[in-house]
Amino acid sequence: MNILVLNCGSSSLKFQIIDTDSQALVSNGDRCLVKGEVERIGSQSLIQYEVPGLPTTKKSDPIANHKSAIEMVLSWVISKKSGIKQINAYADIHAVGHRIVHGGEHFRKSILIDQQVIEGIEDCVELAPLHNPANIKGIKIVTRILGPKLPQVAVFDTAFHSTMPEQAYLYGLPYEFYRRYKIRRYGFHGTSHRFIAYQYRNLTGLEKFQTNIISLHLGNGCSACAIQAGISIDTSMGFTPLEGLLMGTRSGDVDASILEYLHLKEGMNFNDLDTMLNKRSGLLGISGLTSDMRELLEEESEKQDRRARLAIEIFCRRIARYIGKYFIEMNGEIDAIVFTGGIGENSATIRNRVCAQLACLGITISEKLNRQFINDQKGIISVAESKIDVYVIPTNEELMIARDTYKVINKALSEP
Ligand code: ADP
Repeated sequence: MNILVLNCGSSSLKFQIIDTDSQALVSNGDRCLVKGEVERIGSQSLIQYEVPGLPTTKKSDPIANHKSAIEMVLSWVISKKSGIKQINAYADIHAVGHRIVHGGEHFRKSILIDQQVIEGIEDCVELAPLHNPANIKGIKIVTRILGPKLPQVAVFDTAFHSTMPEQAYLYGLPYEFYRRYKIRRYGFHGTSHRFIAYQYRNLTGLEKFQTNIISLHLGNGCSACAIQAGISIDTSMGFTPLEGLLMGTRSGDVDASILEYLHLKEGMNFNDLDTMLNKRSGLLGISGLTSDMRELLEEESEKQDRRARLAIEIFCRRIARYIGKYFIEMNGEIDAIVFTGGIGENSATIRNRVCAQLACLGITISEKLNRQFINDQKGIISVAESKIDVYVIPTNEELMIARDTYKVINKALSEP
């Protein structure tokens, strides 16, 4: 079954077509037929298509809106010049899976999209004003182009964390704000953390109820997740993705009173403060150089840049702090810590510097194994004597969305 996976951001579009079915689910035989993205929708856009085995196509064209972007991508996908043998007409796309950022308290798992589901996603717009409207646009445009009969499935970034207990998701704010406005911690990156838990089970042969791990998704956005008996019991992102770990440009945890102080000192309004916290903080804010970890590591080693080092040290320390917190919350019953995301999968240095702070938990990694794991490899990097195993497992949110889409549709089709 050829599944189009769509991730519509506020000014971008990422897509993949993945061929998957019940056989592939068992044998890991899913195949990515194409992946690509359109950045800077609304101005001179950058477009990239990658078909396995063929040279990558890159170009730049003015694209006015999401509708034009999706139309362009779909007509390219079915054209001869794309070189995708399996897709020659719209009818060769059998279903669509959408990444939806916010499902609020309502959506606790992936679901077949109908009018009621669209309204439910619209109800969550206030919680994710930048992302959910773009996600809804994606659903409506696909319906217009590919027809209302084509099954579409919503896969929510928040859903995996819907199992968090109240003690983890409530803030220490007056309770009426939760009752009135649903102000609470939701968590994000849920599809990635769920995929990691699933891959860990595949690697170790354990059942879901035996899966007790801390998953660390370290990319431009970063989050940690405490997974007990296969379900999320706590995660570091909160009401928005701002909370928790230090990230590329987001601050992570800060004392909220700083905002009033900055308002008084610098005359910053809510908009300025929000931009500062989300776009000018984190690795970029501390180093004053870049939000890109690879570049920061280079600045540190080649130029001994003091603030680059400081940013990296704060980044690692914050991760270690969350691991300590989850160690307590999980009653010390953790079998593994798993690194994923661009930084987690590729940087032996960061893994080493995080794990060096975990010696008091009896965690020791092998230098040799740690150096081996870069570029799409998965496996264990801790020594046999380590009290808690440490793994590197590449994430693949698109694959998870494709598989969910397949499963939801087949369940829906088989229901009377
Ligand atoms: P996103 O969260 O946008 O999906 P990624 O998961 O691709 O981003 O992660 C991007 C981050 O991964 C960047 O900070 C980048 O520098 C970092 N990264 C990628 N490769 C390496 C590497 N070899 N060493 C250190 N950092 C890396």
